[in-house]
Amino acid sequence: MNTFLNELAGYTLNKYSNKLQRIAVVFPSRRAGIFFKRGLAKNIGKPGWSPSVFSMQDFVYEVGNLKPLDDIKLVLELYEIYIKYDRQEFDDFYKWGEMMISDFDIVDKFMVNTEKLFRAIEDIKEIEERFAEELPVEYIRFWKSVLNGKDEVKGEFLRNWKILGHVYREFNSRLSDMGFSYEGMAYRRLAEELKNGKNIGNFDKIIFAGFNGISKSESDIFESLKKTGKAEIFFDADEYYISDNKQEAGYFIRKNLKIFDKAESGRFIINSLLNEEKNITIAGTALNAGIAKSSGVFVNELIDKGLFNESNTAIVLPDENLLLPVLYSIPEEAGEFNVTMGYPFRFSHVYNLFKILRELQRNMIKRNGILLFNHKDIEKVLLHPYIKFSNSKFVFDLIAEMKNNNTAYLNPAKTENRKLTEPDLIEDIFTECNDVFEYIKKIIVSISDEKNQRDKFENEFLYHFYTSINLISDSIREFNIKIKNETIWNIIEKALHGLKVPFSGEPLKGLQVMGLLETRQIDFENVILLSANEGFLPSGGTENSYIPYTLRKAFGIPVNDDESAITAYYFYRLIQRAKNIYILYNTETETGSKGKSRFIYQLNYELCKANKSAKIKELLLTPEISFTKRIPIRIDKSEEILSEIEKLPNYSASSINKYIGCSLAFYFSKIACIEDRKKVTESMDDKDFGSAYHYMMNYVYKDFINKEITETDFKIIKEAFISDYDNIFSETIKHIYNKNNISQEYLPKNLIYKRILKELVLNTLDEDTKKSPFKIIGLEKKLERNLKANINNKEIEVRIKGFVDRIEKKDGVIMIIDYKTGNAKIREYKEKEKDEFFSLLKSSNDKEHSLQALMYVYLLKGSSKELINAGMYYLRGNKKGLITISENYITSDAIKEFENMLKNNIEEIGNPDIPFIQTSDEKVCAWCEYSGICYK
Ligand code: SF4
Repeated sequence: MNTFLNELAGYTLNKYSNKLQRIAVVFPSRRAGIFFKRGLAKNIGKPGWSPSVFSMQDFVYEVGNLKPLDDIKLVLELYEIYIKYDRQEFDDFYKWGEMMISDFDIVDKFMVNTEKLFRAIEDIKEIEERFAEELPVEYIRFWKSVLNGKDEVKGEFLRNWKILGHVYREFNSRLSDMGFSYEGMAYRRLAEELKNGKNIGNFDKIIFAGFNGISKSESDIFESLKKTGKAEIFFDADEYYISDNKQEAGYFIRKNLKIFDKAESGRFIINSLLNEEKNITIAGTALNAGIAKSSGVFVNELIDKGLFNESNTAIVLPDENLLLPVLYSIPEEAGEFNVTMGYPFRFSHVYNLFKILRELQRNMIKRNGILLFNHKDIEKVLLHPYIKFSNSKFVFDLIAEMKNNNTAYLNPAKTENRKLTEPDLIEDIFTECNDVFEYIKKIIVSISDEKNQRDKFENEFLYHFYTSINLISDSIREFNIKIKNETIWNIIEKALHGLKVPFSGEPLKGLQVMGLLETRQIDFENVILLSANEGFLPSGGTENSYIPYTLRKAFGIPVNDDESAITAYYFYRLIQRAKNIYILYNTETETGSKGKSRFIYQLNYELCKANKSAKIKELLLTPEISFTKRIPIRIDKSEEILSEIEKLPNYSASSINKYIGCSLAFYFSKIACIEDRKKVTESMDDKDFGSAYHYMMNYVYKDFINKEITETDFKIIKEAFISDYDNIFSETIKHIYNKNNISQEYLPKNLIYKRILKELVLNTLDEDTKKSPFKIIGLEKKLERNLKANINNKEIEVRIKGFVDRIEKKDGVIMIIDYKTGNAKIREYKEKEKDEFFSLLKSSNDKEHSLQALMYVYLLKGSSKELINAGMYYLRGNKKGLITISENYITSDAIKEFENMLKNNIEEIGNPDIPFIQTSDEKVCAWCEYSGICYK
């Protein structure tokens, strides 16, 4: 296949072979220049002079008188002018400043009459008076709508618009005096200079090749040079879309051909889309993962068919996010590959670390002069691959310690057990960041330490990171402007987000992985184009601009509508010389992806109808994505396990409930002793909240054990509770968190709980007052009883235990009470429904508090003649207040029945022939702490 760049190289060599050193070839992008030079090398065959090759931007700076200034310096220079008109902190100005420069850039590239554009019209009559020439209707319409608008809106707009005009003029003259410029300014200046007769002496001929949507300044530059016989302009296009006015892909080339003679500049326009053989495969597949995987499948197909060689294939990614999955999908047989688009820095470990550090500093607090960091940020920092391996023991010990102590805020640099390697990375990180640049640089230096072995690519990222930070900090330090740390973080983040790290190595060899923009002027025989969905092809770009749409239209500044014509050109240009074309789109529109690209429909209904040699094949792919087969877990009772069961110290209501719910969960908890991984909570979790309530209730009743409490006593209890509540809450928090050094009670979320707890305790006291007088027999009592059961074919005495919150007595009946913060899960026992009740208890249904209440009665009863009842005091949820297991008390018959059930359960646990298995009740799994290891 002959490519555009090869043809151009051949032409250049033929025509200018004796003076190549006096020739410049200019492309819209640098990338095309690299491929063009390859074309030259192929054509020359021997060492010799080569023409100078430029991107348009480089050419303008090369032959013009102005030099580029980096982005951050431009904003700082602009700020110094802007504050003369509107006093603002740099932190507020920064993002508007960038937008302003981008507007000035486009205004200059399109040679807009800025006097006219930025003129603030106060009265519509002014338009006729001031402008002799005819004005675009959009311009008049725009100003009419402003002037007819509300006074305050009109006033605000006019004020800003005037400032914009002043700032534009001053900014231009300031930069010009310094010899610097932004891109558009340099383009406009060169276009004006050439019009005024400037001579570019370094070159005899300048070839501008492959341009599509050219700005007015570019067009003026081309025209001026052409008039003096210095330029040749060549377009890279296909007749198919330029000769049909309805084809948006040809919109700009058609416009260009009105300025530049087609007979000359159309030399490389081909007619391939309608005449050449095209094998087009259009494949729909699910999600990005499917697209990435399918790209590898098509590379394999090309290899299998013998159509693949080291330089004829490209995978084109309109969506950059697919880069990593695509790289993982390229089959080994494809050999080397080159990521032409550069590797986005934002996918790197070091960028991720930067973001984590930013959050760490943002959430840092000072308490009593002590610097503390949030546990979530600490964990993220410590587990980052660059940090984790610097001292793994310290990292994992500290994380475990934070979880066990429920530490919400901490300073890892001040912990005692820290034994660190030099340089002290942890100390560099967990410090107050006063100077963002110095803070980051110190950390980069530490992690770049030679002792850390990382691959070449990661070191490349670290190098680019360090260089970018230096560049930004040098720029900022030149200006004496106070900038908040938050803004500096923003500036760095923005610069790094768009940074691309080039792949080192041979860029022309191997399968090319590239963005759509990088494909300009480059041709491949095999093209695999991904993400062919609306939103990417074409992209629905957004315009951030001070200049309203109507004014942009009036002054010929590009608007979003032009964007889709540009993407259409990239699309058709990419396939015009290709032979084997694979186009992949995402079928899952409900996941946020938009529908199939309109370009696919155009291929189907227009191109393939017009070109009989174009074969189109449509597929729906289901790439094989293998899931690990889930094998049900079953733990047979080995001798070792049975011996552990024999040694179980006791059984409680919760362990029996756990077993009934899921025998495997019982095994994980009681036999394998796998503890639920505790999470650090910054405010009370449900468990802590329950403990706090329990602690307070004991506190209020502690002096009334074995005393009859009357209504008068309750009055005193409540008054004392209210007046001493601050102390009680502090004591409660210390009791829960077992800490005196950090005032957890002042954490904002805990302050909310403070109010709720007070309300709940007072509600409970009110409820208790209603049933007074009664006697409290015990608070927080441990109850125990032995039971003979057959375990592993041996009769063993097992211990049954329970821990009750309160035991009280009234009217001859003992009542055992447990406080519950969750929903009511209790069903009343009625003698006539005995069988149904016990069969419910044996199932894994929602009844666990019934079993618990009966267990308490069973434990307290022993050989006692007392009448006993039990109930749960529900604080929140579907039913509140005390709900008892029986209306009066539990009969001896019911207790016996319960004992039988309990014994059966325990004997089942000890039965060697019954394995521990996963439950079939999904409701149990939904709340199971072992779901992470069980994968049910
Ligand atoms: S996830 Fe379900 S099956 Fe697995 S242990 Fe938990 S409750 Fe049992």
